[in-house]
Amino acid sequence: MFDKVLIANRGEIALRIHRACREMGIRTVAVHSTADANAMHVRLADESVCIGPPAPRESYLNIPAILSAAAITGADAIHPGLGFLAENAEFAQIVGEHDLVFIGPSPEHIRLMGDKVAAKRAAKELGIPVVPGGDAVNDIVHARQEADRVGYPILVKAAAGGGGRGMRVARDQGELETMFPIAQAEAQTFFGNGALYLERFLAKPRHIEVQILGDGQGSVVHLGERDCSLQRKHQKLVEETPSPGLNLTERRRICDLAASTMRKLGYKSAGTLEFLYENGQFFFIEMNTRLQVEHPISEMVTGIDVVREQIRIAAGAALGYRQEDIAFAGHAIECRINAEHPDTFAPSPGTIQRYHAPGGMGVRVDSALYRGYTVPPHYDSLIAKLIVHGSSRNECLMRLRRSLEEFVVSGIETTIPLHQKIMTADAFLNGDYDIGWFERTFDHTL
Ligand code: ADP
Repeated sequence: MFDKVLIANRGEIALRIHRACREMGIRTVAVHSTADANAMHVRLADESVCIGPPAPRESYLNIPAILSAAAITGADAIHPGLGFLAENAEFAQIVGEHDLVFIGPSPEHIRLMGDKVAAKRAAKELGIPVVPGGDAVNDIVHARQEADRVGYPILVKAAAGGGGRGMRVARDQGELETMFPIAQAEAQTFFGNGALYLERFLAKPRHIEVQILGDGQGSVVHLGERDCSLQRKHQKLVEETPSPGLNLTERRRICDLAASTMRKLGYKSAGTLEFLYENGQFFFIEMNTRLQVEHPISEMVTGIDVVREQIRIAAGAALGYRQEDIAFAGHAIECRINAEHPDTFAPSPGTIQRYHAPGGMGVRVDSALYRGYTVPPHYDSLIAKLIVHGSSRNECLMRLRRSLEEFVVSGIETTIPLHQKIMTADAFLNGDYDIGWFERTFDHTL
């Protein structure tokens, strides 16, 4: 096992990884920008190294600085967390070339899934149904032909896209012609790659994803599905497992399909296959070759620590258990709490005046906040994840409501009041929501 792991990330996820390491008797190295000198992940780590100024490009994305920090501190392995360098195949490769272990999948698998057009092609070849469309389109003539073949309304997506950005709906040919060059330019600016593809736009699907763990030695298991249909601007706000929209047969079908596909691929580490689900059909949209923000809900129902498993697997251990050994118990829901105004979604960085996290049975808070901490304006606005487990969905919902009541964060605006509204909305209580429900119901900014 590793002696020392460098955590190439910040915020709650850096803390989450630190916790897993400490429980395994592994020492940790935090890296941080100058804006994060007082962050909790830095305070709790055994050692810390400042790797640059606040701008991510100069710190959390600065590969030479991170490798130097690993060399100086004598780390054996690097955990990339999520976002930043987590899906950068070049980084994974360079880490390996420096005699360090990258805690994640092989650079080849990261590369394959990072290019969405290649990922869809691979999924199709492996026998997974994909959304109609998905081939790269280079110019408007080609785009028009592809759109006619797939049918309107059509979604224009960036091949190198991510984080729900760079997607536009065209309802007819006129709209496609107007937006195509804009989308191309935007993809170039944001993702450094102007390649686009088109996909059938599904009207009211659910977002269903399957958590996978593979040891690269022939064993792959799934930890069930997560329903992440509660979204704003294609970004997840609330996730739950099991999905209230699937029956047992559908759940088994998609989870087994995801696991068997990853077995064929020889996948190593944690990963998530994302699908859209509509009218009894699943369509693959992408795979994340990394830890995801919402991984804790799967941990709550299975008792399996996903980060611990990533570390064990990276150190060469076999899974050591089979699918039949994994028991699924109860229901779990996660609320993503952001430093944003609950009505306008305007970012709200600033200093935390008062902080009180909820507790009690079945309640977990993953957060790097503390009283007096200043949320910097430079990074993602996620400040806390409230994760609640109950023996049934109803118990989980009641526990979530009382936990939200207990949660105090003052000095900045947060989305806690918004989650309180969601948790009393009939459609949510009935489990009757799709990816557009939140925007149709609550978002008055659109
Ligand atoms: P990203 O990598 O940017 O997160 P994804 O392909 O994973 O992009 O899609 C993110 C979200 O966008 C999905 O959860 C869903 O809400 C929406 N979406 C993606 N593809 C489609 C589609 N073909 N039809 C309707 N909505 C879609």
